[in-house]
Amino acid sequence: MTPEEFRKAGHHVVDWIADYLRDVGERPVLPDVEPGELTDRLPLSAPEKGEPMEEILEDFRELIVPGIVHWNHPRFLAYFANSASGPGILGEMLAAALNDNHMLWKTGPAATELEQVSLSWLRQWLGLPEDFFGIIHDTASTATMHAVIAARSAAGAHDISSLVLYTSEHANLSVDRAALAAGVGRGHIRHIEADDDFRMRPAALTAAIESDLRAGKRPFCIVPTLGTTSSASLDPLPEIAAIARQYGLWLHVDAAYAGPAAILEEHRSLLNGAELSDSLVINPHKWLFTPMDLSILYTRRPDDFRRALSLEEAPAYIQTAGSGREVNLCEYTVSLGRRFRALKLWFVLRSYGREGVEKILRSHIELARAFAQKISESPDFELAAPQMFSLVCFRWKGSDQENRELLEKINDSGRAFLSGTTLHGRFVLRLAIGNIGTTKADLEEVWDLLEKLKP
Ligand code: PLP
Repeated sequence: MTPEEFRKAGHHVVDWIADYLRDVGERPVLPDVEPGELTDRLPLSAPEKGEPMEEILEDFRELIVPGIVHWNHPRFLAYFANSASGPGILGEMLAAALNDNHMLWKTGPAATELEQVSLSWLRQWLGLPEDFFGIIHDTASTATMHAVIAARSAAGAHDISSLVLYTSEHANLSVDRAALAAGVGRGHIRHIEADDDFRMRPAALTAAIESDLRAGKRPFCIVPTLGTTSSASLDPLPEIAAIARQYGLWLHVDAAYAGPAAILEEHRSLLNGAELSDSLVINPHKWLFTPMDLSILYTRRPDDFRRALSLEEAPAYIQTAGSGREVNLCEYTVSLGRRFRALKLWFVLRSYGREGVEKILRSHIELARAFAQKISESPDFELAAPQMFSLVCFRWKGSDQENRELLEKINDSGRAFLSGTTLHGRFVLRLAIGNIGTTKADLEEVWDLLEKLKP
């Protein structure tokens, strides 16, 4: 591809993106496709001869886009909805062009330093301690896996078969997977009971630790969640941090979804106790308008991550002579190569500024509050959990089956996408706001759908 050919196709792509971002709300949120449909329409093998970009772009529009779930749709309200904002997309485009791989400072000085600087900016907004070192991962799952590996190493255990990890019964599945990947036995992951509002019970945590100690096991790590996946509940971090300290356990906080709320003064207390944590994960690709993927791990013990992954002797091809000031980020991660993810975050933080970010977060919380209010005033629906941040969990006052059918009908309509979960043993609907384009009118449309489609 010559630079001129690139320019021509690139202009076309940017025009397509701009139109897409403008009109995405007019598309069905979910595609009307069957499993295997795209596979059947694509050739079985790759072309022998190169094809013109016009044809590739046409197939992108005609074959690929119709099978896309529009995560950037203002009525994508499932899971934890997110946004690929304009500034974030521009940063991502430039990162792809630079193709920088900052495994070492020497292989990416600007990317390494921009990562440290932008994570320090965000750390300040969140009110986290100055000595928290930040590093970018692809996802919270990977970040948490690294935290558990560091915790295991810090526990100094040669025999890992007796190590026990504690989390809540409402923790994200990524915590269990992180433990399994770190070699913790399946029977050694404790899911501590939660209270009626889905928060880990500190007394049950202490009892579990005591019981394991009596049985000769080795408790080593606690993972509380700030903003659980099902209901966005908050585990009581100050009490849990005190327990971690009392027993000398690694404390890793999963703030993947709710973390950004701490940017708001009125929600700053969310992170109370986080200053005592050993590590914490927060996902700008969830509720900070940054395109997939970008997750941040903050830790006050970076050396434990380095030690956990250090080799007896680094191979010659990776050794560098340095002044000592440079940070070689690959020393803190299992992956050697590193995408230049910080660029899109830097674009987002600068383009919105703190005020812009606060305005959007507050609007999402306000929209969720208003929707929850409507639910609680309705004779047909009820809240299924306390309304937290930008999430509303609710149900039709009927059977699980009726609620499942209602969810299916809403999603089949193409007008909105909600998700479901189980709380207190009952199936409930989840409406999560996280898209920068979501407005009051979108939620009114969801309300009309509920009224029209309810049993
Ligand atoms: N933690 C919580 C609380 C989540 O809700 C999720 C995903 O929704 C994760 C972790 C996993 O995030 P990721 O997809 O970045 O691995």
